Amino acid sequence: MSPDQSGIKVTILGSGTCVPSLKRSSCSVLMQIGASRLLFDSGPGTMRRLLEAKTTIFDITHLFYSHFHPDHSAEFVPFLFATKYPDGSLRKIPLTVAGGRGLLYFYERLKSVYGQWIELAPDLMEIIEFDNKNADTITFEDFTVNTAPVQHIKESIAFRVISSDGFTAVYTGDTDYTETIIDLAKDADLLICECALPDKLKVEGHLTPSLAGDLATKAGVRKLVLTHFYPQCEEEDIEAECRQTYSGPIVLAEDLMEIEIG
Ligand SMILES: [Zn+2]
Ligand SMILES: [Zn+2]
Repeated sequence: MSPDQSGIKVTILGSGTCVPSLKRSSCSVLMQIGASRLLFDSGPGTMRRLLEAKTTIFDITHLFYSHFHPDHSAEFVPFLFATKYPDGSLRKIPLTVAGGRGLLYFYERLKSVYGQWIELAPDLMEIIEFDNKNADTITFEDFTVNTAPVQHIKESIAFRVISSDGFTAVYTGDTDYTETIIDLAKDADLLICECALPDKLKVEGHLTPSLAGDLATKAGVRKLVLTHFYPQCEEEDIEAECRQTYSGPIVLAEDLMEIEIG
């Protein structure tokens, strides 16, 4: 996709969880919009999957965190450390890091452990916090991001990304069933929704296939991608469970799967 082309290209980098898996890396999603490269979460293994997707850490323009659980955030430290190697000169464009309230504090605490190993030059990195109690919006050069609080841990937010030509992709991060997702994902072209466990193994703070399908139906999304699969999902018919509540196209995420919108 050249910088002047429209739409959003999504690559699932990690469709797994905290559970080590050769098949499913921990959570991460890449979105390509014009000249921008957006990374949503960076669980362990993300930088290697990025390379497999023919993208380096230096290409990433924006790094968004849905929340700070290690399966979503742990590769932030190696990402910053690698950005400084050998002398930081390989990064030509500034990195914007954005997440819910608490991101600045999270980074400060990481710095209290790692110090200058994870500090980039001031003109190479900025940190932005979204409101995590109310809906929020920030407009960037190639796209706009709307966020909404979701039900998982206190800083958790979901993202709606709108390209400048009006295509939309929503990423829930981790969440339990919450109506804020229905509003955030209204009429979206793509909903990338967590689906941690099969229906019969529902736990607090996470969704199941039929609940994800219910959110997608109520939001009227055009395509639903289920991701964040714990190993128990491999033993059930996740698509059939989701089909009980959603009649549109369902995609079960796999690492390095590409989905083009627009
Ligand atoms: Zn998770
Ligand atoms: Zn989590």
